Amino acid sequence: MGLIVQKFGGTSVADVERMRNVAGHIIAEADRGNSVVTVVSAMGVMTDDLVNMIAEITDDPPAREMDMLLSTGEQISIATLAITLHAMGREAVSLTGPQVGIETDGAHGKARILKIADARVREALEAGKIVIVAGFQGTSRDMEITTLGRGGSDTTAVALAAALKADRCDIYTDVDGVYTADPRILPEARRLDAITYDEMLELASKGAKVLNSRSVELAKNFSVPLRVLNSMNPGPGTMVVKEYEHMEDFVVSGVTVNEHEAQISIIGVPDKPGMAAKVFKTLGDAGIAVDMIIQNIGSDKVNDISFTVGEADFSRAKEIAEQLVSEMGAIEVQTDDSIAKLSVVGVGMKSHSGVAGNMFQALADAGINIQMVSTSEICITCLIDVGQVRDALKALHKEFGLGKTAQSVSN
Ligand code: ADP
Ligand code: ASP
Ligand code: MG
Repeated sequence: MGLIVQKFGGTSVADVERMRNVAGHIIAEADRGNSVVTVVSAMGVMTDDLVNMIAEITDDPPAREMDMLLSTGEQISIATLAITLHAMGREAVSLTGPQVGIETDGAHGKARILKIADARVREALEAGKIVIVAGFQGTSRDMEITTLGRGGSDTTAVALAAALKADRCDIYTDVDGVYTADPRILPEARRLDAITYDEMLELASKGAKVLNSRSVELAKNFSVPLRVLNSMNPGPGTMVVKEYEHMEDFVVSGVTVNEHEAQISIIGVPDKPGMAAKVFKTLGDAGIAVDMIIQNIGSDKVNDISFTVGEADFSRAKEIAEQLVSEMGAIEVQTDDSIAKLSVVGVGMKSHSGVAGNMFQALADAGINIQMVSTSEICITCLIDVGQVRDALKALHKEFGLGKTAQSVSN
């Protein structure tokens, strides 16, 4: 008899019929003799609806009150699912993040889990109950309700699986697993049987929202066996693992895109030591995370410094850049929010050369201009025009043969 943590996303619990479907998966797992802890997200697009409602009132709501509001979505889901299970003759108990004892830091809207008390969950499991936990939420040390950031229910599930030393964490979603590209953008994308934690972490942090990147980080750190599968049609899904057979045969495992960043350029910065430090220190002090950076060495002893930031930080970063222009004696600020970050990811890049060249050539052949580039050991990212995303994904998917190959799982 094992312990399985499951997580069902918003689409999977969108209405009463889907709640019954979810209850069916829980019951099937329990009938296999397993203890089951199930984490659920808010029903359908309820979190988006709440965010949009507040946007009609103000564009600067207090972060504490936003967490108070957004955490209600998951509370509706857990109670509804527990009632559904009762109606199907099963003993279930719903618990909010605070009731479980999911302790976070105090960063409203992007809180990090500090620790999880497992006593209440274990007690309920020992009493033979199915435990339903609200995703995406916790409490800070001073008893404030916090949320973990969008897509945070994945993180709740993996953190619980780690704390409870679960045998597996199953992430049920609305696609058949992790694909070589977002299957909703690229129909020819192929489901992967397996992907490494490192590759999944790169894909998730570069925009593939099928798994929240912090959940993958936790799964990697605590070696949680993670599976992604479709709640409406559960097949083999995708195993996220430390390594799989023949993994070095696959130079690139997937391509992904992030359209939620914007570019800021400070034009005509005097070419002297300390200028770049001033820009990025000022942004850092304001709590703005900068992503890609490029500095063009111009003529006449001036440089252009360009960088990208997430869309949520864009207007503040622009204001700061404008202040810096006068302080540094630069010429002007230019901005572009019609950009997209395109990434190819693959553990095989460690041992194969020429991936960047092939990527750039494929984009050039498709008439796509590259504005910035950044690389890591297993990932190459290019900044392109947002209007060319589909063509770029298509070109790279073809270039790296992602539609054809197959792999097998070794652990
Ligand atoms: P949930 O509500 O279950 O958490 P999400 O909407 O957060 O689901 O994530 C699932 C979505 O992720 C899919 O519908 C798909 O459009 C998107 N996605 C992006 N990249 C990928 C990828 N490489 N593989 C699978 N799905 C992806
Ligand atoms: N309901 C939250 C969101 O929409 C958390 C989640 O679904 O993972 O972001
Ligand atoms: Mg999600």
